Amino acid sequence: MMSEELKKAMNDQLVAEVYSAYMYWSMASYLHGQDYPGMAHWMEAQAKEELSHAARIYNYLIDRGVKVSMAAVEAPPVEWDSPLHVMENVLEHEKKVTAMIHNLVDIAINEKDYATNRFLSWFVEEQVEEESSAHAILARMKKLGDDVQGLIMLDNEMASRKPLYHILPKD
Ligand code: MG
Repeated sequence: MMSEELKKAMNDQLVAEVYSAYMYWSMASYLHGQDYPGMAHWMEAQAKEELSHAARIYNYLIDRGVKVSMAAVEAPPVEWDSPLHVMENVLEHEKKVTAMIHNLVDIAINEKDYATNRFLSWFVEEQVEEESSAHAILARMKKLGDDVQGLIMLDNEMASRKPLYHILPKD
């Protein structure tokens, strides 16, 4: 049996993953408005992956016989100053998510819930990827500064990202 504390924290994580998708769509919408369709596409791919993270948690909780409670999802920001500002927010957000995942692992280990600890290890690794890719793009944007031509090149590269559908569980 999963403890009430862990159930609630896992449920909160599901909501946080849905919020992430919401936030990335909001960023995509802003970037479309700034005529950076490649960056917007990257954010849309990210949003799809976030929904698959939520689905992963949902499926796991159902498998463990936990009733999943859908809570309100906070509204994300809708405006940013620049693509650089967006990417700064992305990295900041992913660092927050990493801390949330680590907190879940702490609870699972503390309660000797080995199955949940193992389930979460996928998320621990995923967060390393999330932070690394956000950091790489942010670093390039910082180097480019106001170099519009460079930003357009980066935009073209970001247009080629494919969402990782294979990570969708049970499809
Ligand atoms: Mg996620």
